[in-house]
Amino acid sequence: METPAPRSVLVSACLLGRPCRYDGRENRDRVLEAELAERGETAVPFCPEEHGGLGTPRPPAWLEKSGADAVLDGAERVLTGEGRDVTAEFLRGARGALELCLLQGIQRAYLKERSPSCGVCQTHAAGRLVDGPGLTARLLQRAGIDCRGTEGRR
Ligand code: SF4
Repeated sequence: METPAPRSVLVSACLLGRPCRYDGRENRDRVLEAELAERGETAVPFCPEEHGGLGTPRPPAWLEKSGADAVLDGAERVLTGEGRDVTAEFLRGARGALELCLLQGIQRAYLKERSPSCGVCQTHAAGRLVDGPGLTARLLQRAGIDCRGTEGRR
C-alpha cells in the first residue's frame, strides 16, 4: 500500500520548543510532536507575535474587551498591560500566519491555548482568561482553516 504524502500543518513555534513566549520561555509539546509524526504531518513553525515585530521578551498583551472578532473588525484594539496599543503588530502577525497557510496549502493549525494570538478555545481579553479564540486563530478560522488548541504537554 502506498504511504500517504506528508501534509504540512501550521504549529505555534513555542509548542515546538522555540523560546518565543512573551517571557522568553517555550511551551514544547512532546505529545503533539509524537502525534504529528504518527499522522505523517509536517510541522511548519510560526510565531505571530514575533512575526508582527514584537521582540522577545515582550510585555504581556491582551485583546481589549470582547474578543478577536471585535479587533479584526476594527472596533477594538490589542493592548499591553501598560496600555500600549500593539494592534498593528498583532494584526501583522495574524495576517502573516494566514499568508503562510495560503502559500503552502495548509489547512490545519495546532495552536497554543490561552494566548491572545494563538488561543483557540480560550484567550486573554481585558486582562483575564476568557472563552474564545485569539486573533491569529480567529483569522485562520475565518479562512476555513481547522484550528486545534493544545498545551505544552511534556
Ligand atoms: S503562543 Fe503563539 S504568539 Fe505566543 S509565543 Fe507561542 S507562537 Fe508566539
